[in-house]
Amino acid sequence: TGSAEVLLEVRGLAVEFGAVKALSGVELRIHRGEILGLIGPNGAGKSTLVDALTGFLPAHSGTVRLAGRPIDRLTPHRVARLGLRRTFQQDRVPSTMTIGTYAKFVARGRTTTAQLDEVLEYLGCPPRSTPLQIVDAGTRRLIEVAANLAAAPQVLLLDEPAAGLSHDQHLAFANRLRGIPERFGTTLLIIEHDLDLVRSVCSRIAVLDFGEVLAVGDRETVLSDPRVLKAYMGE
Ligand code: ADP
Ligand code: MG
Repeated sequence: TGSAEVLLEVRGLAVEFGAVKALSGVELRIHRGEILGLIGPNGAGKSTLVDALTGFLPAHSGTVRLAGRPIDRLTPHRVARLGLRRTFQQDRVPSTMTIGTYAKFVARGRTTTAQLDEVLEYLGCPPRSTPLQIVDAGTRRLIEVAANLAAAPQVLLLDEPAAGLSHDQHLAFANRLRGIPERFGTTLLIIEHDLDLVRSVCSRIAVLDFGEVLAVGDRETVLSDPRVLKAYMGE
């Protein structure tokens, strides 16, 4: 709706790897309190966008504003401190510590034990004292989300968080995702290939294709757009 507050604003964002234009002219607005789905074929630039928004990759051009404040050119650490966090498509969770030690490291003083326990329980994770070494792959994905959520970011960008979850974990996670903005005050962007999950969780969807935003808007409008079907389904 026109009255929604723009929390994260991306304008004219471009990222190049040598001759490869991974992103060009990306315009995107994430509204406070929403769950925005980001879909698109492999290689479309979804992970690159998350990298560029969070300071992990320098943008060639463009601006990124969080609650009106420019955050491009800042380090990932500074961006996180200002309230924009991300998870990674590839598992980066270590195995050599407990869930609690890992989460406290990730949150860097931005959480409390009580807050962490609440988030772990909410996402169905084992208790804080559990060694990561004995945790299954799907649960490790959830723990990465929990550790970032425990820091109470304004915006959390999730890069394929459901990849590697078991069927039961997938269903439970989808149900829990929906309640995150209201319960924890965190706005979400979710990169996800499972359109059923996207449909059930996201009110708005953005489609990235060849580094450009092909469509963005209301869920049903975007998912029935012929250009989206062509790009995403390869039809
Ligand atoms: P997605 O997450 O949508 O699958 P990516 O953002 O991973 O897509 O990749 C977008 C494009 O950028 C692809 O063509 C990919 O090969 C290229 N790319 C990504 N990271 C690098 C990099 N570090 N160096 C060179 N090319 C890269
Ligand atoms: Mg990716």
